[in-house]
Amino acid sequence: MANLGNYTNTAEILQKYQFRMQKKYGQNFLIDANILTKIVEAAQITKEDTVLEIGPGIGTMTQYLAEAAGKVIAVEIDRELIPILEETLSSYDNVTVLCADVLKVDLTKLVNENGGGPIKVVANLPYYITTPIIMALFESRVPLTSITVMVQSEVADRMQTGPGTKDYGALSLAVQYYAKPEIVARVPASCFTPRPNVDSTVVRLMKFEEPPVKAEDEDWLFGIIRASFNQRRKTLANGLANAGGLGIGREQVESVLEEMGLSRTARGETFTLERFADFSNRLLRVRKEG
Ligand code: SAM
Repeated sequence: MANLGNYTNTAEILQKYQFRMQKKYGQNFLIDANILTKIVEAAQITKEDTVLEIGPGIGTMTQYLAEAAGKVIAVEIDRELIPILEETLSSYDNVTVLCADVLKVDLTKLVNENGGGPIKVVANLPYYITTPIIMALFESRVPLTSITVMVQSEVADRMQTGPGTKDYGALSLAVQYYAKPEIVARVPASCFTPRPNVDSTVVRLMKFEEPPVKAEDEDWLFGIIRASFNQRRKTLANGLANAGGLGIGREQVESVLEEMGLSRTARGETFTLERFADFSNRLLRVRKEG
């Protein structure tokens, strides 16, 4: 039975192993059973599912996931947590814990070794690397159905915003391209130990079967998007010509903008996903023509 979703049992196990929380790993453990139930319900986990949990911590949510899913793969970076996980997950035979940095794991290989997917991702994410983890999950192209995650509220807002706001960026566009975002719950700091000093939100990203726009080359599209927002204050023509690795010049960018009936001084932050897709497809053709 899941027994860690409260402060007393969490404090007891941390004390038993003399575990010291590591701020650098974004360790804020959940201590609220209602929120844990809500996350697992929102993820719509059944016994048919394989779940990837990123950052199991002491195994609090892992216990709930193990009870609902067919199989759980949990990737935890902090080796000090492994003996704790061995104890807290000892009664579940459907959990595999991997001690690794999730950003360095070959996710496709991991999923293939565990039935091939599609998987559901569920996590109370370490906030210092939320965006890289979500981008890596999408861009790795591992077969997945949904991602249900606790994130900083500001990041949840960034996932849903459009052009012309300061929060609009590569994450907003990646989410729009790959998935439909839904807010599951706003979560107060009192649901964690230690309390984070930001507000938290659970979001569910339901992966689309087909992206809403046609990109001739997804890696190229996201290369252009990233480069556009890396140099946010610059015009696209200057920003993209300066970006190493893309291999396109300022005149090429300007001619594509003109062809699209746009100003030569256009900026990426005003572009919708549709416009980015059109722009990047045209740039790709121009680059191929040399
Ligand atoms: N799932 C637990 C819970 O809800 O109580 C812990 C969540 S805590 C916010 C984030 C967890 O991610 C920590 O256990 C931390 O050690 C782990 N973590 C941090 N960076 C990681 C990385 N790069 N790869 C895998 N796990 C990581």
